[in-house]
Amino acid sequence: MYDIGIPEINITARSESDDGRAILYTAEAAHRPICCANPACGHKVKPHVHSSKTNLIHDIRSEGKLVYINLTIHRYRCPDCSYVFPDEFTFFAKNSHITDRLKQEFVDRCIKGETFTYIGNDYSVDHKTVAAAFKAYSDTHKELLTYDYTPEVLGLDEAHIDDHFRLVITDIKEQRLLDMKRDNKAPTVKAYLHTLDKSTCKCVTMDFAPAYAKCVKTVLPDALIVIDKFHAIQEVNRCLDRTRISLQNYYSKTEGFSTKLFKRAKYLFMTNWENLTESEWDALNGWFNRFPDLFTAYMTKETFRDIYNLAKDRTEADSMFDEWLKTIPDFKAFEPMRKTMIKRRGHILNYWDAPYTNAYTESVNNLIKKIEKAGRGYKFDTLRERCMLEINTEKPDKFNPRKATFVNSDGSAQTLTEKAGKLYLSAVPKKTTKTINVDSVLLKDSLMLYFKHFDRTKHAESTIARISAYAEAIQRLAH
Ligand SMILES: [Zn+2]
Repeated sequence: MYDIGIPEINITARSESDDGRAILYTAEAAHRPICCANPACGHKVKPHVHSSKTNLIHDIRSEGKLVYINLTIHRYRCPDCSYVFPDEFTFFAKNSHITDRLKQEFVDRCIKGETFTYIGNDYSVDHKTVAAAFKAYSDTHKELLTYDYTPEVLGLDEAHIDDHFRLVITDIKEQRLLDMKRDNKAPTVKAYLHTLDKSTCKCVTMDFAPAYAKCVKTVLPDALIVIDKFHAIQEVNRCLDRTRISLQNYYSKTEGFSTKLFKRAKYLFMTNWENLTESEWDALNGWFNRFPDLFTAYMTKETFRDIYNLAKDRTEADSMFDEWLKTIPDFKAFEPMRKTMIKRRGHILNYWDAPYTNAYTESVNNLIKKIEKAGRGYKFDTLRERCMLEINTEKPDKFNPRKATFVNSDGSAQTLTEKAGKLYLSAVPKKTTKTINVDSVLLKDSLMLYFKHFDRTKHAESTIARISAYAEAIQRLAH
């Protein structure tokens, strides 16, 4: 009469709760046993129903409503050996009040990123029930939680969660979260690295944290250490911002210059040159004319980026990097960065031998923080399991009804677009992309020019001269 996709049961009645939130099915086993279940008996006479009880079992939602099955379970007695045995079902576990497919639904939704509490509320069950289903799943799917192969390119980073630094380990090439560790201390990092095959792991990407590099050097001496490009650029960006802040503090005190204006202009300095609009470029020039130090700091940032944009190989990068080191101004704000750049020169330049970034690990880090935030108070093991499953499970594409094939009950198939003809095809708007051309000057030229006009000996007094020479040269190039 009713088919809810469980062939083991016969549904005899359907009713709905008065508030319309839930459906209740009354059901019993679809088939009665035809012989005794006692293997020692083998009696072929149909057993009698000895007693019955009902079990209320929670199932997946249907028609947007909660679904419960009030299942009658009979116990049978063999007329021959008096052996008593109940109906057997496979769609829910013994002593469980939830169907297996509902447990799977809990797990699927956890993996999609929903919290235990949210799913629990949606199904009117305790969040602990959902957590238990998830735990049972992760306990039986250890293979999804452990990766014991060696990645060719390893990513190391830490996520700061709840006052702890958790080590995050990724496979950069395969884009996979390999593991999370309780802490990021050297013994933990080394213990992990020792599990890897030395000849397989060719390269390790990381930020400037010297501790990871030290561990890698000791355990995987042949692996190239590559400092993440974006962290390197960020390091220089910070110096530029510190320069802005010190000018901001000085001029607001001595000349009553508006701090707000400085703060508002921050984005102008931080934005990549090629992403600025013409009017922003004008505004930037205004700042440079008034505060030549900002120009110097800005060019240090942009020319550093240029190395990444322009150097074609390690040799070119080597020489550009050394040229660039010479142009770092002797501002106090730049001193620690200069030292770091000299000290980590090799690790930064290794990028040209192994052009990998740690961007994937960074994105994983953000996901981990998001998962932690949503589930506030996860224990580390639960958080790790959730992250491993959620982050490593490939997300299906969004279902597109216009592209899907729908199979009719008679077996014939159709798509909506076939039905609707060309109506949908012409309705797609054309995308237009606006390209911004900064004075038609190539970045490569700008870098060469900057080096040409840079004169370390005349640093302080020649800034204005340099700007104008630079601007003139740019003008010439543009025409
Ligand atoms: Zn029997």
